[in-house]
Amino acid sequence: MKFVTDINFKNKKALIRVDFNVPLDSHKNVADNSRILAAKPTIEHIINNGGACVLMSHLGRPNGQDQNLSLKHILKQTQECLSREVVFISDCIGPEVARAVSAIKPGDILMLENLRFYDGEIKGDEKFSKELSKAGDVYVNDAFGTTHREHASTSTIAKFFIEKCAGLLLKKELESIDKVLVSKKQPVTAIIGGAKVSSKIPIIKNLLSAVDNLLIGGGMAYTFIKSQGGEVGASISEPDKTGECLEVFKEAERRGVSILLPKDVIAAEEFKNESETKIANSNKISEGWMGLDIGPETEKAFNKTIQESQTILWNGPMGVFEMNSFSKGTKAVAESVVEATKNGAFSLVGGGDSVAALKKFNLFNKISCVSTGGGAMLESLEGKTLPGIKALRT
Ligand code: AMP
Repeated sequence: MKFVTDINFKNKKALIRVDFNVPLDSHKNVADNSRILAAKPTIEHIINNGGACVLMSHLGRPNGQDQNLSLKHILKQTQECLSREVVFISDCIGPEVARAVSAIKPGDILMLENLRFYDGEIKGDEKFSKELSKAGDVYVNDAFGTTHREHASTSTIAKFFIEKCAGLLLKKELESIDKVLVSKKQPVTAIIGGAKVSSKIPIIKNLLSAVDNLLIGGGMAYTFIKSQGGEVGASISEPDKTGECLEVFKEAERRGVSILLPKDVIAAEEFKNESETKIANSNKISEGWMGLDIGPETEKAFNKTIQESQTILWNGPMGVFEMNSFSKGTKAVAESVVEATKNGAFSLVGGGDSVAALKKFNLFNKISCVSTGGGAMLESLEGKTLPGIKALRT
């Protein structure tokens, strides 16, 4: 596989798949610019090497051409992060793109509209990929966070280029994953949180072959608790996934992996920061109340396992950390991972929300490795070659 440092970009147009899928606040401002900053070294490298850059990314999960998820909202902050002018094109394929691309000069930067405005992106459609490929001479993938997806811009597109390579961010991310895979010190503990159990169950199943302990927090814990007959009140849960949760328990037992679920939770009457709260047993949450954070007993239990670990992987918050009333559990886990790191453990934290949490608690620089990708990080740790990486190799 080639890297940007192996290619001469002089007078060439680099079509770069970046991961600018950043969180937006209610005013459509970028709430966390880490992913934009993470792409800067590759963009700088190409420009310093005499090339021009055409940036392409997705943003959120639009249903059609949803202007709320237009990349125009992130233009200003992209310019600020890159300290350069960036021209936004309100499409990602077609005549407007062709005109703009033919006019760019070395040093120029274009940013195309949200790739997911076309369903060909997610489908990995050949025709759409070919159209997209017309926007550059060299294909560069620097979107680590999407390399686990077989989408048009991350995978199918590569075959339409003679020159293709990985960007500097992708290189750095792959190196840190290799570090975990090659010199994996045991015990290994994975901490998984976040809201959606459905999106993480396949990863959790596969992770069971790589870890000794699995700590499950966040909204996804309630589906696991429910699968064991627990009463979770109005907590977020996906009842159609309880069967798969039971399979996870079975497989963990077979492999000798210890799974820790929250024992107690901070339950709230309403999904808001000012709501009345109480500490509840995680499997006896009153009707109408919802668990929005892990409780103090759980913090202690999770901390004990984390301190006994030599390799720690973390993806997903332990509660609704965006609201101060429900951020304590995520903060406690972050502090615990930092302490274990100080004592010699290797820690790898990935995913937009976990990274945002580390920033919120000023702990960003106290982790061994912070990855921009959540799903991609976890899938690489299973030892898989991700579709986006395979595409650069063929
Ligand atoms: P995900 O995209 O699945 O990683 O989920 C991240 C989101 O999960 C964050 O925005 C959290 O606010 C949310 N979250 C974490 N714990 C809970 C919970 N107990 N109930 C509802 N949402 C939660």
